[in-house]
Amino acid sequence: MPASKGYAASDNKSPLAPFAFSRREPGATEITVEVLYCGVCHSDLHMARNEWGNAIYPMVPGHEIVGRVTAVGKSAKKFKTGDIAAIGVIVDSCRHCPPCKKGEEHFCQEGSTLTYAAKDRVDGSITMGGYSNNYVVDERFAHTVPAHLDLAAVAPLLCAGITTYSPLRHWKVGPGKKVGIVGLGGLGHMGLKFAHSFGAHTVQLTTSLKKKEDALKLGANEVVVSTDANAMKAHASTFDFILDTASAPHDLEPYLGLLKQDGTLTLVGLPEKPPTVSVFSLITKRASIAGSMIGGMPETQEMLDYCGQHKITADVEVIPIQRINEAFERMLKQDVKYRFVIDMSSLK
Ligand code: NAP
Ligand code: ZN
Ligand code: ZN
Repeated sequence: MPASKGYAASDNKSPLAPFAFSRREPGATEITVEVLYCGVCHSDLHMARNEWGNAIYPMVPGHEIVGRVTAVGKSAKKFKTGDIAAIGVIVDSCRHCPPCKKGEEHFCQEGSTLTYAAKDRVDGSITMGGYSNNYVVDERFAHTVPAHLDLAAVAPLLCAGITTYSPLRHWKVGPGKKVGIVGLGGLGHMGLKFAHSFGAHTVQLTTSLKKKEDALKLGANEVVVSTDANAMKAHASTFDFILDTASAPHDLEPYLGLLKQDGTLTLVGLPEKPPTVSVFSLITKRASIAGSMIGGMPETQEMLDYCGQHKITADVEVIPIQRINEAFERMLKQDVKYRFVIDMSSLK
């Protein structure tokens, strides 16, 4: 049994603290990965503090994992020992329902298995995430990483990357489209990079005036401070698509006001309280509010390969794991540039 150590939350109030546990030996099609880097997603904070009501403790968070393969099962074909592998938010699913067969495992009709705080389909244990020294996963749910990318900056692609890439592709964001990104955090800065790379006219909507210069450098054509009513009014009814990544409860009305006729506001941020919406804001322009969740395994690999071809990675602040609680507090203050990534060698 691989001995594992990591950082865990023991309840919804205590800081994360060192935690020892064990993982199984890899099964026939599984691989064991030594975790090199793990991104810090706002979902880790929501989960550790039980803001969605589905926490299971002790909880080792972390679902933006890049590591080195240290063991492979006898039937594993995709990886060999020494390869770099990446693991995201989903580590298993039923594999036979229509969405699973289509490679949309995140919509598995029997429920996909999350990387942490979920019941493992293989041995019934509770999954423990990537704020740890190793991970065991079926190779179907692990991805190859394009060569020559900075591995610390690749880690956030496994959640922040695919969660923004997938809806921008689904709603066909590209040349001739005016696209807004709400929130310049981990997801938001990846959404900005992808929307810019896909050729859209990209507008960063932010509550933080001080992020303006960064947003322009990251690919925004324009930056609008969403609390400035006049600035918002100047853009009224001009957007084809808006991707909302905000992590805290907020009013959707100002963003609906920005949409053109038939425009779409897609929510990916998951504040702990649900939004309220005036139906009038929708019917008067046949606007849509939609949602999107990460992406399936084939699309995640497509996104990684796209990032390899276009040299896209996250802007990261690499931290030792001993600073994880401070990173959570800074994330709550919107003080992230633009993703914390844990260097797991700090665990040793
Ligand atoms: P993050 O790095 O903390 O960034 C969140 C950003 O939201 C902040 O930087 C801030 O940007 C903006 N924001 C915060 N409060 C706001 C408010 N009241 N009004 C408007 N904007 C506000 O978080 P993240 O890791 O990107 O995650 C964002 C959200 O997506 C979280 O709720 C997370 O759980 C969720 N998520 C969903 C999925 C999915 O599959 N759907 C996947 C991953 C994460 P500014 O400073 O620019 O305003
Ligand atoms: Zn995430
Ligand atoms: Zn399924």
